[in-house]
Amino acid sequence: MIAYGKQDIRFDDIEFVVDVLKSDFLTQGPIVPKFEEAISGLAEAKYVTAVNSATSALHIACLALELKPGDLLWTVPNTFVASANCALYCGAEVDFVDIDPQTSNMSVELLERKLRISQQSGKLPKIVIPVHLTGEPCNMAAIKKLSVEYGFKIIEDASHAIGGRLQNKPIGSCEYSDITVFSFHPVKIVTSGEGGAALTNCPDLDRKLKLLRSHGITRDLDLMQHPTNDAWYYEQVDLGFNYRMTDIHAALGLSQLSRLHEYVQRRHEIAARYDQEFEGANLHKPYRNPINKSALHLYVIQVEPLQHNGVFHKLRESNIGVNLHYIPVHTHPYYQKLGFDWGDFPNSEDYYKKAISLPMFPTLAVDELNYIIKTVKKLCDE
Ligand SMILES: *Cc1c(COP(=O)(O)O)cnc(C)c1O
Repeated sequence: MIAYGKQDIRFDDIEFVVDVLKSDFLTQGPIVPKFEEAISGLAEAKYVTAVNSATSALHIACLALELKPGDLLWTVPNTFVASANCALYCGAEVDFVDIDPQTSNMSVELLERKLRISQQSGKLPKIVIPVHLTGEPCNMAAIKKLSVEYGFKIIEDASHAIGGRLQNKPIGSCEYSDITVFSFHPVKIVTSGEGGAALTNCPDLDRKLKLLRSHGITRDLDLMQHPTNDAWYYEQVDLGFNYRMTDIHAALGLSQLSRLHEYVQRRHEIAARYDQEFEGANLHKPYRNPINKSALHLYVIQVEPLQHNGVFHKLRESNIGVNLHYIPVHTHPYYQKLGFDWGDFPNSEDYYKKAISLPMFPTLAVDELNYIIKTVKKLCDE
């Protein structure tokens, strides 16, 4: 079966990980800060906190922005559940803004409409999480403008988007957001095994993120309530977690990061080939805004709802490991118990009835690509 996404682990990666295994520190050593520095450099964000997953990064990002019980967080329904669950971890409430059918990202028009209505009922969100689905950047400038008008904070869920650009800036620069989150899960653009990062330009938020990552404990005299110079002394000043990334994982991530641009370039070559071959085919190609650069985590075609199930299953039967991103979050049983239901967010539900993620990863072989293209075209024409 050709997977829809797959990591590329090379000899250099393995050697670097083995070096860490032979070193004094498996965790809390020198490699995590090096990985953070490398991310900061390429994403052009001042501060980076590496953690054990993007889910953890989303959780502490919400806490750093002081999301509390009684508060409200909005995200899109067509995302991985983690973009919404982070609010529930904080005891806050979640609601959704439907997507724009053209871009498949958060609709600015629907966001504005929902904000206007919510202002009248006095229930505005504290945080909005736009998701750069497939790596295609959201319209961040417009969302930022609304955040100023309606007073909400922004976390970019850039789990799909490291290596992409929003106009002239790398994704992660936080030009239009308070915090940006990356994922280093093996199916994403670069991997650390499991892992994530929270990026910000605000020193206060950075301080909170780093405290929350590790039990809320500090050894920094400036952050202590009762500072002493006793060598053994530390203080717990907040309720944090153990969300630390190990040096073993950071070594893999750092080694992978050196090939980020090569990986994104290869993804663009594959997408260009799909685009060209699907010209005039009986399917809808994914949207890309030429002013941005997608990291192309996924290549999602849309087919007619009546064909969807058949094409999907026949592709799997042909050993092409297609996938579906995503089952709308609000339709999961857990969210239905919270009061959501089918019909609440029709654009996301419509997308779900059409979308198929084709294989997209840097080591996809040319003969595999040819086979996928031929099979997709044939099945869509039936
Ligand atoms: C993968 C993913 C996450 C969670 O990432 P983990 O590192 O697996 O916790 C969150 N949001 C989106 C959009 C994702 O694709």
